[in-house]
Amino acid sequence: MPGFELFSEAERKEVNDVLASGVLMRYGFDGMRNGHWKAKELEHALQKQLNVKHAQLVSSGTAAVSVALAIAGVGAGDEVIMPTFTFVASFEAIMMLGAIPILVDIDDTLTLDPEAVKKAITPKTKAVMPVHMCGSMANLDALKTLCDEHKLLLIEDACQAIGGTYKGKALGTIGDVGCFSFDFVKTMTCGEGGAIITNNSNYALNADHYIDHGHDHMGNDRGAETHPFLGYNFRISELNAAVGLAQVRRLPEFLAIQKKHYTILRNALEDIPQVTFRTVPEGGEESYAFLNFFMPNLETARNIMLGFKENGVDACFHYYDNNWHYVRKWAHLKELKSLYPITEEVKKGMQYLQTQTFDQSDHYIARNISCLIKLSWTEEEVNTRAQKMRDVILTNVN
Ligand SMILES: *Cc1c(COP(=O)(O)O)cnc(C)c1O
Repeated sequence: MPGFELFSEAERKEVNDVLASGVLMRYGFDGMRNGHWKAKELEHALQKQLNVKHAQLVSSGTAAVSVALAIAGVGAGDEVIMPTFTFVASFEAIMMLGAIPILVDIDDTLTLDPEAVKKAITPKTKAVMPVHMCGSMANLDALKTLCDEHKLLLIEDACQAIGGTYKGKALGTIGDVGCFSFDFVKTMTCGEGGAIITNNSNYALNADHYIDHGHDHMGNDRGAETHPFLGYNFRISELNAAVGLAQVRRLPEFLAIQKKHYTILRNALEDIPQVTFRTVPEGGEESYAFLNFFMPNLETARNIMLGFKENGVDACFHYYDNNWHYVRKWAHLKELKSLYPITEEVKKGMQYLQTQTFDQSDHYIARNISCLIKLSWTEEEVNTRAQKMRDVILTNVN
């Protein structure tokens, strides 16, 4: 996945364009910037690449998720349904708006289970936010039907799945708003950065103002701009955008490498009866950022992880024992350890986390092993790794 692995002259050239003028900001300073508008160009490139009307860059993927919810009107006291398996950013972004994260089970897609979503809908529910973890997607048709029935927003967190598609459409373009992260370890990177994409022109206009203090961006005197509504600063810098601009042009190349490496690893494990692969919903194509598979039980998964370590197979994750990605280890969330007061409404709305168990999620995450697909591997390295993975797994299941 990480685009930083192939950092090159192309990225340096784009950054040098910005350094040459010294205009590090994406707005204004028209006369000084030698015609370079890296953030704008990157937005256009994303629109083209993902076949979507609007793209708005922001300062991070976490900001993208908050902005996506805010521009669609999600705020204080609203419930947002999200999966138990994701990155901590999901609930952070929801809680920043005073909204309430409602965690629900995942299924064998490793993303939101539509049945579990259905059960979690209440009159306070405003949005459903599937997170397309590790390069593959939720059953988006089922979620979209549910959202339409209940008049809910569908917000796609596609931070880990740029390049994946569902029924021929780019992930992130199926729901009302899609979110991407371009942090240092994502498939394409800006160093730090993110984007929201949407086909809804009203949301796009909201995003344009909201991420820059509510400025209306009319005319070329920033001081004279009016503020149709309140905003914040979630701007990306021109330097970060410059890196992303070079990376987005290389995205097709990155995706092809991911697919090639993924396929070699998958083929090596395919005939082991105890290995089952994550389900990709019908009509979906992964971005191949990770290879995900299930072992028969927790103990075997843990032993295989040990075996991988001993044999130098790095970059594989067992999220059950990981602090970042799974509800089991989120004590700070369950105990609401906040530096500042949290509203009574949110506290009350999150009480369920004290007692609720997520047995169905445990069933999948405990047995799941997730291997990052690197871009910089040589073919020989991938083949050696495939053989080692196969050997370790076979040793542990026989
Ligand atoms: C990386 C990531 C984010 C947050 O992105 P940052 O740019 O690091 O803030 C959000 N959601 C998911 C699923 C991610 O993987």
